[in-house]
Amino acid sequence: MTTPSVPFMLSRCTGCGHHFSLAIAACSQCGGQSFEVVPASGRGVVRARSEVWRAPDAFWRQYVPYALVLVRLDEGPVLMGHAAREVAIGDAVHASNAMLGDHRVIRFEPVASDSFVRGAIA
Ligand SMILES: [Zn+2]
Repeated sequence: MTTPSVPFMLSRCTGCGHHFSLAIAACSQCGGQSFEVVPASGRGVVRARSEVWRAPDAFWRQYVPYALVLVRLDEGPVLMGHAAREVAIGDAVHASNAMLGDHRVIRFEPVASDSFVRGAIA
């Protein structure tokens, strides 16, 4: 199900370096209006999780139960993605692209605690 990792991109304020996952008009930290698109590390920590047992349509029904997580990326933004059902709140994870049928999704995989150093990405 998982394809080789392809990093997703974030917007970064050129004035103060604050990261955003969505396009915005002005930086909430410094008010700057100049942004650059930068690759995300894909690393973060699970802040919330939910298991879907009642899928919205026939496509997603074939995958139930599946876990959705909210991950606070090391850069700051929070992204939602899929994860293994064993992934728990507080787990360190890394994002990869995965295909579910013809749907490309972000899938967060657990990171071994000995290879995950908090704060390694400024
Ligand atoms: Zn800024």
